[in-house]
This record gives sequence, structure tokens and C-alpha cells, in this order.
Amino acid sequence: MPASDQAELSVDLAALAANYKTMQKNAGQAETSAVVKADGYGLGMAHIAPALATAGCRTFWVAQLNEAITLRALLPDAVIYVLNGVPSGTAAQFEAHDLRPCLITLAQVQEWQGHCRAGKPLPACLFIDSGFNRLGFGEIEIAELIATPDIFEGWELSLIASHLACADEPKNPMNGAQLERFRSALAVLPDAPASLANSGGTMLGPDYHFDMIRTGTMLYGCSATAREEDALQPIAGLRAPLLQIRQLSAGDTIGYGATFTASGEMTIGVASLGYGDGLSRHFGDQSPSPIRFTIGGQPVSLLGRISMDSLAVDLTNLAALPFVGDMVEIFGHDNPIDRLAHQGNTISYELLTSLGNRYNRIYK
Ligand SMILES: *Cc1c(COP(=O)(O)O)cnc(C)c1O
Repeated sequence: MPASDQAELSVDLAALAANYKTMQKNAGQAETSAVVKADGYGLGMAHIAPALATAGCRTFWVAQLNEAITLRALLPDAVIYVLNGVPSGTAAQFEAHDLRPCLITLAQVQEWQGHCRAGKPLPACLFIDSGFNRLGFGEIEIAELIATPDIFEGWELSLIASHLACADEPKNPMNGAQLERFRSALAVLPDAPASLANSGGTMLGPDYHFDMIRTGTMLYGCSATAREEDALQPIAGLRAPLLQIRQLSAGDTIGYGATFTASGEMTIGVASLGYGDGLSRHFGDQSPSPIRFTIGGQPVSLLGRISMDSLAVDLTNLAALPFVGDMVEIFGHDNPIDRLAHQGNTISYELLTSLGNRYNRIYK
């Protein structure tokens, strides 16, 4: 096989299915739905969603209408919820693709109800804001909603949902406060299935499960708490081949801005992956404790600034010197994604959704 200069993103669909089963166990009696927004957290919704459906998932969530239309073509039978709601004038598109909006304002409820007037009680979710202050009905808007005559007539309230702001911090009192506010909302709304927990919320225990949990990050092998020990099986691996190995002497510098200067003899490797592939240029600014990747399981430090197409790593003290073509693992089994995210002052969600599209993508 000829050597490749392309970085490689591998996605383990069997591990994804195993993580789905684990989340089903974690969710107890509640239905385990999957969040596949932003192209399946950057990993490729076209592969992720069918694999989850095969694993038994029936209900899916995306953020935008266009994502939902793409998903519908992949999964003719799934229930699909759209988090951003129903923008004015789009109800017919929702109906045409059998999509369920998360209604976030009274105007949207009225639009949906108006669209259903022809005697088709189409399903939709009512999205409650229990303290996040992002989208949905807060306390004032709920009061206004339930004071509106016949507002629940003519359409199907298939789900009442809300979202937690601090589920990644199990001890944060915000979780309990949001749970109380969600319960208060349910108490004044018509009877319908309810959903509060994302991945982190699921791990807060049965009080948070209601009828359905919505899991994203834990399916993808990232931890909901940003602690690598809380992650399920890794499903994604990003590896970049070494294009060249060079010797440096004291005083030599590396890369744009010459921000790294060798203090003595060094061996460095230049790997084929840069900020053009979604790895933030800021990762090169982490001295005195540089970002670590791995080669053959051995840690190697990032040196100097990340270029658009390449980055440099320190090979000086490796027990076995790698060869051109050997792979630097950016994240994966040897270098957990939550560890890299922590070192880079970000979260695994952002690492995944920043992934570029010039990798060789391998689905197993
Ligand atoms: C993104 C999102 C989720 C999934 O959250 P994870 O932390 O990835 O499990 C669930 N619900 C809503 C409303 C979301 O926006």
C-alpha cells in the first residue's frame, strides 16, 4: 500500500452501539433517544444515525430543520425532534418530512396549531426553559400559554422537554433547582411524556430520567463531566502521519513566529495535521506545559505553533525512534479525547465538532 499524507479519522460503530446499550442501562425505564446534531457531533451523521437505529434507537434530535431533512432521508421510520423550533412559514416543511419541532414561543405554538387546523393533529414538543435561559418557555411564558384559550386543541403535545445547564457538575445546586422548576411546569401543563436529561443529567439518577433521556456526548465516547475516567468506550480516533523527521541544534527554532527554540540537540517529527483540519491554533500556545499527543502509545509534546497543514512534535527522548509514515495519535485509545480537551482548555464536544473534512474517514 502506498504511504498516505492524509490524517485519518476512524469511527468505531460497534463501540457506538455498545455505548448506546450502556446508556439504555443508565436510563433505566426511560427511553434512550440520541442527539445527532452538528453532523453527529462532527463524526458523520450519515454513519452514526443508522448505526444507532440498528442498535435500537427510535428517537433522534437535531438542532436545525435542514439537519432534520437530511436525517429523515437516512431514517424513514425514526421520530425526529428539531431543537430550534419551527421558524415562521416552515410548518409545511415539518409536515412534509414528518418532523417534530420543539415549540419555543407562544407564536410558534399558534403557528403549529394554525397549520394543524385542517384536522391533522400533528405532534410537537413543548420546550420549557427551566433556568438555562436559552430557548423555550420560562415561568412567565408558561403562565401566558396556559391562559390562552384552547391553545392545546388541534395538535398533539407529544413531549414536554427542558435542558440542564450544569449536568456536567453533579454537585451543582442548579441541577436540583432546574428539576424543581421542570416539575412545576409539568404540574400546570397537560399530561404528556417528559424529558429533561442529557448525558450528564442521565448520570444524576432516576429523578432526572422522566420518560426519555437525550444523550449525545457519552454515545460518542466523551465524558459528560469532562473527567476522562467517566467516559464510556472511545469511538473516535484521530491520527496523522509523520511527513518528515529532522535534527535540530541549540538555537534552532520551529514554525511560524519561531516561538519554540531548541535548547540543545533535538529530534522532531512533522505530522500532517493542522488548524485547517480543525485543531485549534491556540493549542500551540500552551508552554510551559505543552499539549501531548502519542506515537505508539508513547507521549510526545507539541512544539511551536500549529500551521494550517502540519504540526511538530518532540521525538528526542522516545525509546524507539518512529519512522516517516508512522502515526501521531491526536486523540483516541492512547490519548483520551477528554484529556486532550482538558490540556487545550476546551471540551471534547468542541474538539469533535471542529473536526475537518479532509481526513481519510474510516468507519468500522
Ligand atoms: C445537545 C443537547 C443534548 C445532548 O447533550 P449531551 O451533553 O451531548 O448529552 C440534549 N438536549 C439538548 C436540548 C441539547 O441541546
